Amino acid sequence: ALQLSDVRVSFPGLDAPVLDIPRLEIAPGENVVITGPSGSGKTTLINVITGLEKPDQGTVRWGDIDLVPLTESQRDAWRATHVGLVMQEFHLFPGLSAIENVLLPVRFRVFSVPAELRGRAAALLERVGLKRHDQRIETMSRGEMQRVAVARALLGKPAVLVADEPTASLDAASGAVVGDLLTELADEENATLIAVTHDPRLASRLQRRLRLVAGRIVEDTAQTAVPPTAASAATAQQGQVTS
Ligand code: ATP
Repeated sequence: ALQLSDVRVSFPGLDAPVLDIPRLEIAPGENVVITGPSGSGKTTLINVITGLEKPDQGTVRWGDIDLVPLTESQRDAWRATHVGLVMQEFHLFPGLSAIENVLLPVRFRVFSVPAELRGRAAALLERVGLKRHDQRIETMSRGEMQRVAVARALLGKPAVLVADEPTASLDAASGAVVGDLLTELADEENATLIAVTHDPRLASRLQRRLRLVAGRIVEDTAQTAVPPTAASAATAQQGQVTS
């Protein structure tokens, strides 16, 4: 499980902290969407959760490990083995093929890629619907590029899949495909999915909603005590709206 306590992030020159989270718990395998207005701290929260950013105070525990006292290179090493990242812009390398891009994180670490990993990369590309594994990235559509990025994020069997506006630079149809793949694959791979998104379709597919305003969690559906009957009615209603 992920446990944040007393986490605070401030930047020089700003009066109020950009993130102020007394307590947050996310269980293994949970699906969470983070929403909130621009500048409310969504990206900062993701950066803290993945160890990209060190808070000024507090603890960020993943199981037995607290990321806060670790050095930057220890946090980087932790992130490389536990987190898969999908960003709004794909961060893929032109000039390389789809499968070479999926294998890139491994390439940085070892000279020759084990056959087993190459097989997993190929299987993930198939799973996201890409058949031409040797197609060069720059000849792909944006939706296809983001599907390569999803496959790359999952290569190392991460415990958590973090997506920051994964559908925002895609048209509606490609965005729907990518959003659906993210939720399906997080489930299939038993990964916790944490997504920042304004995409109503993707948001509706996630179980828990956190809303940030000015660095604070002002709404957390997991903490709202909804009687089971009302909850199932709400789910049914949501189904009608999105279908
Ligand atoms: P958006 O939806 O626009 O991406 P966000 O909710 O992700 O916004 P953050 O990017 O987390 O918001 O930023 C939260 C606040 O912290 C903003 O006011 C931003 O200007 C400020 N901020 C972020 N990084 C820094 C930094 N390195 N130095 C100073 N201020 C920063």
